[in-house]
Amino acid sequence: MKSILRSVTIASALVLGATMAHAAVTDAEIMDDAASTNQIVTYGLGHQGQRHSPLSQISPDTIKDLVPVWSFSFGGEKQRGQQSQPLVKDGVMYVTASYSRMFAIDIKTGDELWQYDARLPDGIMPCCDVINRGAALWGDMVYFATLDAKLVALDAKTGKVVWRKELGDYKAGYSATAAPMIVNGKIITGVSGGEFGIVGKVEARDAKTGEMVWSRPVIEGHMGTLNGKETTMTGVKNASWPGDMWQHGGGATWNGGTYDPETNLIFMGTGNPAPWNSHLRPGDNLYTTSTLAIDPDTGEIKWHFQSTPNDGWDFDGVNEFVLFDLKKDGKIIKAGAKADRNGYFFVLDRTNGKLLSASPFVTKTTWADGFDLKTGRPNVIPANRPGNPANTGADGKGSSVFVAPAFLGGKNWMPMAYSPATELFYVPANEWGMDIWNEAITYKKGAAYLGAGFTIKPLYDDYIGALRAMDPKTGKIVWEYKNPAPLWGGVLTTGGNLVFTGTPEGYLKAFDAKTGEEVWKFNTGSGVIGSPVSWEQDGAQYIAVSSGWGGAVPLWGGEVAKAVKDINQGGSVWVFKLHGK
Ligand code: CA
Repeated sequence: MKSILRSVTIASALVLGATMAHAAVTDAEIMDDAASTNQIVTYGLGHQGQRHSPLSQISPDTIKDLVPVWSFSFGGEKQRGQQSQPLVKDGVMYVTASYSRMFAIDIKTGDELWQYDARLPDGIMPCCDVINRGAALWGDMVYFATLDAKLVALDAKTGKVVWRKELGDYKAGYSATAAPMIVNGKIITGVSGGEFGIVGKVEARDAKTGEMVWSRPVIEGHMGTLNGKETTMTGVKNASWPGDMWQHGGGATWNGGTYDPETNLIFMGTGNPAPWNSHLRPGDNLYTTSTLAIDPDTGEIKWHFQSTPNDGWDFDGVNEFVLFDLKKDGKIIKAGAKADRNGYFFVLDRTNGKLLSASPFVTKTTWADGFDLKTGRPNVIPANRPGNPANTGADGKGSSVFVAPAFLGGKNWMPMAYSPATELFYVPANEWGMDIWNEAITYKKGAAYLGAGFTIKPLYDDYIGALRAMDPKTGKIVWEYKNPAPLWGGVLTTGGNLVFTGTPEGYLKAFDAKTGEEVWKFNTGSGVIGSPVSWEQDGAQYIAVSSGWGGAVPLWGGEVAKAVKDINQGGSVWVFKLHGK
């Protein structure tokens, strides 16, 4: 009996070796991803979003020996921004790339196993470059969302399409770039398009078939669905929106979500209300610029925290809500933290959404003077809200104000990381402000729906980007690293007391997690705006990151864009390990 089992095992191993097929990814493996070190099967290195690898082979002592193993080119004459986070399973890396492409790569050799290119129609409307942030794995399939707002399931072994579903009408401005999330056999997605007056939503589909389970629009007045039938209305129609403005209210859920098995809640951020001109929609404009806690079984909203009510600065509240245990006054609070576009670092009780603290993580937050912890609302400075063009002249310039942060945010999409060892968050922040003014606007399908103009400006001569270690207990900045160009890449922490992040200047850099001392850097040949990862295989700890400059800064950065115009494009993924390991 023993020998039969043994031969069966050897036979399957041979088949696996020949085809590089991975074993089916289970829901249990997905839930355990933060603790497992030999694979990466979720965006965020665990649905909690901590981006922490417990591995410690690479440390401040050993990192001098960290060298490239291979680099893989995404090829093509079109490159643009590479913002993806690789996944790793059974010796295969799955990494997405610009223009809605996905690659499967043999980790040992860097050989391509397959490539999938989405055929994108003319007329797609991504606001902020043709990027993609990553894939999801479940069963025998690998999934990603494409710029024409489709969700694609591929056979992980061959890259062949299994199913393909529409997330929204790309002709109305819907697109998709976030990594999907799998929660107990359902695939959870959001949508992009807040600059075109779309209606943000969160949806769950059967991961096997792609059939819709529930849909939850995030703008008050719209109906949700469950199993093909209408369920509940989101909020109360016209409670926080005037007239029919809710019909094109924005709130794009464009950055994906996190999930907490302990409370069984999905956390999704929502973007700016549309249009940007806030005088056209007096009211809180729920549930824009918020963190939403959603029941993964029904799509019902369990609580919300709105970080910028009646947003007038494009302070999308989409930033990732990272789950952690807050140790305070001898108690452990089930908490979550979010470094918001609006410049505040929020700590919430994740069981009920109660605001525990709001601390600035950038030097200037001139739109508001702090938050009231009792009401959870900002103390808005009315003079720094761009004015009403109805009162200040037709060209709108009379309504202009200078305000910080700029609309690209104290932090934008790029995910921060948490280290359970140091109990610190590491926030990729930027220091900039903007002139912003309002203009008249009416909704037109497929056209930009802003009603605002703007110019982004640096605040300081010597730096824009700042990687900041934040203590969630005190809201204090423990250390910072200043970077000349704006930071636009994700962060990784490791059990080896390291923090990794990339720079537009081309470097993947590593810092001592406790002191902030820069201990290693490597130039990848183009700007690094992807999210680094780490895993172990055959006794070695690996680090990987995508390289390729692009994203929103060169497109929308105003005076900052001029400062980074000479950075070269690229498109590759780099893999590192210690020499000799
Ligand atoms: Ca926006």
